[in-house]
Amino acid sequence: MIWNLGSINADNFYYLRHLPAPGETIAAHDFRQGLGGKGANMSVAAARAGTRVMHIGAVGPDGKWTVDRLLEYGVETQHISMIDTATGHANICVAEDGENSIVLFSGANHQITTQMIGAALAEASPGDFLLMQNETLGQRFAAQTAHTLGLRVAYAAAPFDAEIVAQVLPDIDLLVLNEVEAEALEKTTGARIDALPIDDIIVTLGAEGCKWVSNKAKTVQSFPAYPVKAIDTTGAGDTFTGYLIAALDRKLSMPDAIALAMQAGALMVTRQGTADVIPDLKDIQDHGF
Ligand code: ATP
Repeated sequence: MIWNLGSINADNFYYLRHLPAPGETIAAHDFRQGLGGKGANMSVAAARAGTRVMHIGAVGPDGKWTVDRLLEYGVETQHISMIDTATGHANICVAEDGENSIVLFSGANHQITTQMIGAALAEASPGDFLLMQNETLGQRFAAQTAHTLGLRVAYAAAPFDAEIVAQVLPDIDLLVLNEVEAEALEKTTGARIDALPIDDIIVTLGAEGCKWVSNKAKTVQSFPAYPVKAIDTTGAGDTFTGYLIAALDRKLSMPDAIALAMQAGALMVTRQGTADVIPDLKDIQDHGF
C-alpha cells in the first residue's frame, strides 16, 4: 500500500486570445477546471496502476469536489482533512499561440500539520511505501516517522527545494527526479548522485527515457523511452512516479517497474490535461507497446 503525502490543486484553465498585459482586463472565451497538483496526480497514477493508495492532504470547503474525484478514481481519502481555507489552486492562462502564464496558490496544502500526518501513518504497516513531493509541508516529519515505522520512503524532489531535500535525504530509500533537479541536487549536496546514501535513484530524461542509479549495486542502467507523438508533456513525471512506486509496491522488479512507468509516461504525453487523463493499465495494454 502507498501512503502519499501530497498536494491537491484545482487547475483552472482560462483560454484567451493573448496573455493580459499589466493593467489589462481580458474576457476568456473558454474555461475548464480539472484536478491537479503533483500529489493528486501521483495518487491517481498509483491507483490506476492497480495498487491501494491513501492520500494524506488537505483541502478547503471549495475543494470537496477534488476529494470526490479522487475517490471516484480509486484513491482512499480518509486522511484528506477539510480545513477552513482555500483549496490549493493553479490559475492557468492559455493564449491562442500556446503561451501560458500560471499563478499558483498553495492554500490548504500548506496547512497540513504533523498531527494529520502522524494520525495517518499510525495506520500504516511495515513494508508499505510513503511517497512525497515538495508541494506540501511536513516532509521531514513524515520521512522520519515512516522510516522508524519500517515503511519504504520514496521522494519525488519536485518542485526542487534545496532545504527540504537536505532535511529528508537521510530517510529516503528511493528518489525520483528529472535531469534539472538532479543537477540542482548535486549542487546542493556537493556530491554526485551516485555517491549519495540512497539505495535507488531514478533520473527521468523526458523523450530520452530514464536512468536507474543503484547505489547499492553500484550500477547505472539506461532505459530508452517508448516512442510516441508528444502533444502535452504536463504530468508525465507525476504519472511516471505514481506508476513506478505502485509497480514496486506490487512487487515488480525495478526494471519491470521502470518499463511500466515509462509506458504510462509515454501515453500521458499523447494526452492533454492532468490527473483526469492519466492512463490506466488497460489503456497501456490496449496500446501494445
Ligand atoms: P513534468 O514535469 O513535465 O511532469 P518531468 O520532467 O518530471 O515531467 P519527464 O522526464 O519529462 O518528467 O517524463 C517522465 C517520463 O515520461 C520519462 O522518463 C519518459 O519515460 C516518459 N516521457 C516523457 N516525455 C516523453 C516523450 N516525449 N516520449 C516518450 N516518453 C516520454
